[in-house]
Amino acid sequence: MLILADALVSTPDRILHPGRLRVSGRTIQEVGSDLQALPGEEVLELPGLTLAPGFLNLHAHLELSPLHGKVAPRLPFSEWLRQILLLLPGLHATARTASILEASRSASESGTTTILTILSDPRSLAGLAGTLPRIWWALEFMDLHGDPQPAVQMDRLAAWLSRHPGCDWHAAISPHAPYSASTDLYRACAGLAQTLRMPFTTHWAESAEEVELFQTGGGSLRPLLPDGWIPGSLSERSGALPMGSLLAHANHLKLADLQNLQTRGCFVVHCPTTHAWFGRESFALQKFRQQKLPVILGTDSPASGANPSLDLRVEARAFQQAHPQISWSEIWSMLTTLPASALGQADRLGTLTPGAEADWIAWRLPSAPASSPPPHPIPAILTSTEPAEIISVAGRLHHLERT
Ligand SMILES: [Zn+2]
Repeated sequence: MLILADALVSTPDRILHPGRLRVSGRTIQEVGSDLQALPGEEVLELPGLTLAPGFLNLHAHLELSPLHGKVAPRLPFSEWLRQILLLLPGLHATARTASILEASRSASESGTTTILTILSDPRSLAGLAGTLPRIWWALEFMDLHGDPQPAVQMDRLAAWLSRHPGCDWHAAISPHAPYSASTDLYRACAGLAQTLRMPFTTHWAESAEEVELFQTGGGSLRPLLPDGWIPGSLSERSGALPMGSLLAHANHLKLADLQNLQTRGCFVVHCPTTHAWFGRESFALQKFRQQKLPVILGTDSPASGANPSLDLRVEARAFQQAHPQISWSEIWSMLTTLPASALGQADRLGTLTPGAEADWIAWRLPSAPASSPPPHPIPAILTSTEPAEIISVAGRLHHLERT
């Protein structure tokens, strides 16, 4: 199939006017401005539209949308967690399944074609037959109340995935956080991530209370943990992180931590609206850049943020407002090419180039006056609040109904 559009964002620094994309099945064959239809080839004409790669969101909790607005913003982290722990038992599997479907659809409509979501209750997967975006299901483990048997659970997830070969679904693993997962559990999860060659993610150094717990053994997080729980050491856990770990938040890191994490090839997933929702100090972007620790953007959960539709453009705008020195093109790479490398999918996702998956979005952007050149599509897409017109995931097209 040949797709003809007004413009095409191939990579952050390669924009084509007009933009043409040749796709065969689920794979991009050619990208250019002057591709011509082959004899008998299907042609999709998209006048007025701009093609761009779908975004990747590597920190979401698709199950938790019903908790949006249930807890007040700007609480101390431990109080937020205490209230969430009271709400979670009321969130039944059917509500979680419905949340997964609704949240993933809404994320796609704002341009996201790949989501790595934390999965805290595998029962939410029962009855799920497909999702619009491709998904990495990061099964979450804690060992506050006994051994969660990650190897057994990951086997079950693999069996479930094998029963859904037509879905673009994959496995990932996630010890929850250093205060809820022991060093042994971190090691077990890291071992599975390496053996099964799957992404490893964890919440890391999210709050000042977490740092205090490991420095003093006390503080306001301590009463939320079981009596016999011994924090152990944070550096032991960081020593267990496998290469390429995805660390959500990383708000409280010292220089030595940064150096260690950089040598482990870690990626930091920063969630700007959640950061602002908790009223946290400004995100130390400069420290990460100096230490060459890559930062990508995620949405986190609607239980702790002001972005219930999981729209990565909202995160991009919040980030740009907090860090105006960062260009829109650089922010674009934090939503596309960088997270694709973090997943080990650098040539397949986050880019419209030959050989990549046909994960593209068709956007209708505001038109420029006839006498002026067309606007740069990257800031135009990231500042738009309109939904996409067409979403393609692995070559499967989904047209959005305009209301
Ligand atoms: Zn999270």
